[in-house]
Amino acid sequence: MEYRVKSMELAEQGKLKIEWAENHMPVLMLLRKKYSESKPLRGLRIGAVLHVTKETAVLMKALKDAGAEDVVLAASNPLSTQDDVAAALVEYGIRVYAWRGMSSEEYYWCINQVVRSNPDIVLDDGGDLHATIHREHLDLADKIIGGTEETTTGVIRLKALERDGLLKYPVIAVNNAYTKHLFDNRYGTGQSTFDGILRATNILIAGKVVVVAGYGWVGRGIAMRARGLGARRVIVTEVDPVRALEAVFDGFEVMPMIEAAKVGDIFITATGDKAVIRKEHMEKMKDGAILANAGHFNVEIWIPDLESLSAGKRLIRPNVTEYKLRDGRRIYLLAEGRLVNLVAAEGHPSEVMDMSFANQFLAVKYLYDNRGKLPPKVFNPPLELDERVARLKLESMNIEIDKLTKEQEEYLKSWTLGT
Ligand code: NAD
Ligand code: SAH
Repeated sequence: MEYRVKSMELAEQGKLKIEWAENHMPVLMLLRKKYSESKPLRGLRIGAVLHVTKETAVLMKALKDAGAEDVVLAASNPLSTQDDVAAALVEYGIRVYAWRGMSSEEYYWCINQVVRSNPDIVLDDGGDLHATIHREHLDLADKIIGGTEETTTGVIRLKALERDGLLKYPVIAVNNAYTKHLFDNRYGTGQSTFDGILRATNILIAGKVVVVAGYGWVGRGIAMRARGLGARRVIVTEVDPVRALEAVFDGFEVMPMIEAAKVGDIFITATGDKAVIRKEHMEKMKDGAILANAGHFNVEIWIPDLESLSAGKRLIRPNVTEYKLRDGRRIYLLAEGRLVNLVAAEGHPSEVMDMSFANQFLAVKYLYDNRGKLPPKVFNPPLELDERVARLKLESMNIEIDKLTKEQEEYLKSWTLGT
């Protein structure tokens, strides 16, 4: 079996981590149990580019138990791989190409190993796998039954591919499931971003001025948790007037980044956009400002500007780089500007990934069940799958809800019944 991980000696430790995640992912475990008997994915070859974490491990095992013949996994970020989990997965028969701290060349080499495995269905987080297939392996694209996409920016990239008429296979935008973005992007990132910032710095949030760039699903969660941890001021920056207004009505200050730059202690980007914090902002920042990214890739904080303003830099704690500016101020960049929650901590907690990855699992099954029937477009996950995940999650938490009566069902469908 071909694979490439840091060290197989870490496998036992990785297995314990995966066991912990399994104990906190009841919905995915239920699907795994149900489909490991009927094996609806029998013979399927799956290629995935996801963060190699204990939660992803539970998804990979579920796909394999449901009959997938070959499951190949590469990292969706050069710094987010949990090396012990990667080793454990190899012992479970998953072909992993991932290690923490890979170079850009190695990152794409690993993605290419996934493509080379001739997958029938491809799972991606961020769009690098889909882009690689469409850029360099169009011959293989025709044989692909379909794909899935885990995150907002990946969906935006795929919609651009679709708009240009170039998308070669159907893709389910898992991110667009309600049981994904409402929970994962908001509560998951809200908590795990601070987990990352705290593990890296151990600073006190109470009394600080926290600036959150972007008030989408991720930004909302981060702003909410910043307030909960006692930040003195939580400032939001936006480009969308509706989202900006929502932030104001949610009780946050809104202002342009150039103003926020002067007062912030901690800056967190969550936009999916590039150069949201750049030279003109860095020039205004206080000595000791901390910069972290929870959005996409390492482009939201424009690192070339930080480099050009600096006389030198040094790593002062794991995941904390101090940039010494020419005028003597210091700016601290966390996790090299990559996702702070996955690089400096362990990503979202298992309870949240339970829903995201139950959606991934059901999306793979849906694509396989409907093979040959779907055109090459980006689809939202079917609502019935979304509701199934929500019901199973409620059940796992022993929470019951009401049912519509017959009369209520009719009333809600009718236009004739007024006051
Ligand atoms: P979203 O589209 O709901 O929100 C993004 C917001 O950023 C929008 O409101 C947009 O108007 C705003 N924005 C864009 N450019 C801006 C700028 N220059 N300044 C200020 N605001 C700007 O997306 P989302 O679901 O919140 O996701 C945001 C990013 O986080 C995406 O890249 C997504 O892939 C990523 N993400 C990360 C994690 C994680 O684990 N760290 C989890 C989920 C999503
Ligand atoms: N690959 C890009 C894309 C952003 S990743 C990058 O590295 O910049 C954002 C995604 O990570 C989210 O949509 C979320 O579902 C996923 N994620 C967060 N915590 C995770 C975890 N514990 N395990 C696996 N994936 C996780």
